[in-house]
Amino acid sequence: MKPVKFLVDSMAGKLARWLRMLGFDAEYERSGNPEFLIRRALLENRVILTRNLKFSKIRVPRNVKVFFLSSEKTNLQVREVVEKFGLLRHIRPFTRCIECNAELERVKNKEDVKLKVPYFIYITHDEFSICPKCHRIYWKGTHTEAMINRIKLVLGEELAKKIKYF
Ligand SMILES: [Zn+2]
Repeated sequence: MKPVKFLVDSMAGKLARWLRMLGFDAEYERSGNPEFLIRRALLENRVILTRNLKFSKIRVPRNVKVFFLSSEKTNLQVREVVEKFGLLRHIRPFTRCIECNAELERVKNKEDVKLKVPYFIYITHDEFSICPKCHRIYWKGTHTEAMINRIKLVLGEELAKKIKYF
């Protein structure tokens, strides 16, 4: 089963980036207007993640799920969402563009990125991924280490241990 797709509202922008980093489909909606979010969630079949209390005052269609984030802190929000939606075994870090939410594609010929990454990175790495939307290039390197450490911090050592890193 595919994990749920999310629509994060403007009050929790950092959460969207975190969910992407863990490999989840998380769109960010700038508009704070609940009606707008509901319409988009319906259209794209997404669960709304929000801290906006207005949602409890309006009528939300039955087929739209709204999840209220109880914490203001991004770390706790990530943990909350991972636990609530059973995401742990679906975590695939670094498979999605953190900037635009598109799924990354593996670069088949390393030479294709030669002029697009710093030379030092080019000669010391063999695997690169590219975002089909913004063409940003990702590689597994020291920043990956740092990110894994951040994931451990956010999810806690116990949860982080269960993640399969590629
Ligand atoms: Zn991108």
